[in-house]
Amino acid sequence: MALRFYNTLTRQEEEFVPLNTGEVRLYTCGPTVYDYAHIGNFRTYLWEDLLRRYLQHRGYRVTQAMNLTDVDDKTIANAREAGLTLADYTRKYIEAFFEDVAALGIEKAEHYPRATAYIPEMARLVRRLQEKAHVYESRGSLYFKISTFPGYGRLSRVDPAAGAGQARIDSDEYEKDNPRDFAVWKAPKDDEPYWDTEIGRGRPGWHIECSAMSMKLLGETFDIHTGGVDNIFPHHENEIAQSEAATGKPFVRYWLHAAHLIVDGEKMSKSKGNFFTLRDLAARGHDMRALRYMLLSVHYRKPLNFTVEGLSQAGAALGRLDDLALRLEAATPSLTTGGGDLAVKAEKVLQGMTDALDADLNTAGALGHLFDLVRETHSAVDAGRFGERDLMATRGVLRAFETIFGIRPGQRADLDTDIEALIRKRAEARARKDFAAADRIRDELLGRGVILEDTPQGVRWKRK
Ligand code: AMP
Ligand code: ZN
Repeated sequence: MALRFYNTLTRQEEEFVPLNTGEVRLYTCGPTVYDYAHIGNFRTYLWEDLLRRYLQHRGYRVTQAMNLTDVDDKTIANAREAGLTLADYTRKYIEAFFEDVAALGIEKAEHYPRATAYIPEMARLVRRLQEKAHVYESRGSLYFKISTFPGYGRLSRVDPAAGAGQARIDSDEYEKDNPRDFAVWKAPKDDEPYWDTEIGRGRPGWHIECSAMSMKLLGETFDIHTGGVDNIFPHHENEIAQSEAATGKPFVRYWLHAAHLIVDGEKMSKSKGNFFTLRDLAARGHDMRALRYMLLSVHYRKPLNFTVEGLSQAGAALGRLDDLALRLEAATPSLTTGGGDLAVKAEKVLQGMTDALDADLNTAGALGHLFDLVRETHSAVDAGRFGERDLMATRGVLRAFETIFGIRPGQRADLDTDIEALIRKRAEARARKDFAAADRIRDELLGRGVILEDTPQGVRWKRK
């Protein structure tokens, strides 16, 4: 089967064919570094990480750029409030972002352009738009005239005429029912940072930043551009208008957008105050692997409701993969050359996972296949129908999961020592013939989803 993506531009699932064979150029809208990123942002970044990993797994060489928006309305406002220069203010959140990226096991992109390092490229792009009469000046700011770009509204399906009553807008963000001429270059103000450039003094609008950085790093036409659905309008609509009006070429071939992480039916966001940062969750002892698993386990185009219970369920599911990996390790010495049925099943599971991911990255479907194999492997090992070929094939599937989902099964750490300490206590209770205490511990572990098995080699445990 061929790899297919749902393209927001055409509202259809399409076969993915990159511009250059074997190579994918990918632009992922990155954080606005005015605060810590919340786990809603990370839902999008993790899905983009999975996209990158899956493209690599499919044999493509990926060049990814993720921007850091270190100058825009929000960063400027917060820096001013904190009494710091823009650079001093954003530095802390850029560092925090990379710490979070590492904590979640996100693969590094090839490029992390900071907007403030590309001001001349932004000014150049605005100049090209001026030369083609797509922008006009008003009180020192330059606005993109949306009526000069016939394709305006193609991505977001807005009607460019709908907002005609109100001429133009200065702020970076505005509502979909009110498309207007937007600022590509903002007039200098005393209390705002500005730059001297070939188009004069001022600062870029948010949208021109991504157009300039993506085309500089990936070319004027590239393969995939992503973000959360809130980016479709106005951000990505405006990026297309600016880029295509300047170059006369198609800007991006596939536009992919992730649905939101929600809390009680509402988008998790800074402005609503209903957000968790990674740091909040880590401080409460939540496992980052489980968070990664949870955020990846739901298909990216479906909204995902965040609950602490969902997070612990994700931890339990991951625990079953950990158990399987550990059991496979332990099973090695008793291998025979027999078996083989499970190996056949494992091949099918791998194919099923690939087919699911080929179908617009259906992670939930892929995990469904994987857990079929988990069950069948335990039964095969229990029944002694487990040979060398079966082991290799099952391990192969777990390795594929690891490369694509970025989580290594069998690496559970702290929880294990906790459980093992209880198991030791139970053994001690039994040794002193305190069977009531031993049973209490068994029940407690059962309550946590841990099943004990007394074997001639000692106590073994697994998760339900
Ligand atoms: P921002 O820092 O607000 O520009 O957002 C960075 C990225 O996170 C963008 O791609 C947004 O679309 C995405 N994003 C923001 N809020 C959420 C959310 N609640 N769920 C998923 N993605 C989000
Ligand atoms: Zn962007």
